[in-house]
Amino acid sequence: MSPQEPLGPFCQSCGMPLNQAEDFGTSVEGHRVNDYCHFCYQGGAFINPDITMEEMIDLCVGIMAQRGMPEPKARALLTDVLPHLKRWREASIQRVLQTAGGRGLPSGDEEC
Ligand SMILES: [Zn+2]
Repeated sequence: MSPQEPLGPFCQSCGMPLNQAEDFGTSVEGHRVNDYCHFCYQGGAFINPDITMEEMIDLCVGIMAQRGMPEPKARALLTDVLPHLKRWREASIQRVLQTAGGRGLPSGDEEC
């Protein structure tokens, strides 16, 4: 009977629902950051700035499995959700720009 999908904000890095004030990350000034949780973002910076989306999925699968969610279900959920989150959308755009301006990976794609 209770609603299954929380309507509140989600961490734009790991997808965790942000329900309570202490769930949120903090800016340099110590203010609340609405986009990220405190596991991902504290003091105006990501705690794991170099983590990849794949590594973040592994990390979160472990946490969700500990909380009782079957690992395949957790992995399927995270693999579905994380690419749409702000942090990873921006990361993939940056990666494309770096690739385009850098050594140019042999992708086989040619644009006219
Ligand atoms: Zn997070």
